[in-house]
Amino acid sequence: MVRGAAKAQAQAKNAAKQEAAKGGKSQLKDREKALKFICPQCKAPSPHYNTLKTHMESKHPKADVPPEDSFKV
Ligand SMILES: [Zn+2]
Repeated sequence: MVRGAAKAQAQAKNAAKQEAAKGGKSQLKDREKALKFICPQCKAPSPHYNTLKTHMESKHPKADVPPEDSFKV
């Protein structure tokens, strides 16, 4: 059992390593792409619609949150 757990752990570690190796650039690209939900009130970018929604509910409780579709190009 202990051996199996160690093996699984090693595999997970390896997978993370591989992920990091091929990540780098594409992750940066993803981040750029992700910041597409711009707050219409203060222009703060959010990576997700839910993040923007939360932001607007806390920072601009009187403003209407635009529908998610309105952010799609
Ligand atoms: Zn805002």
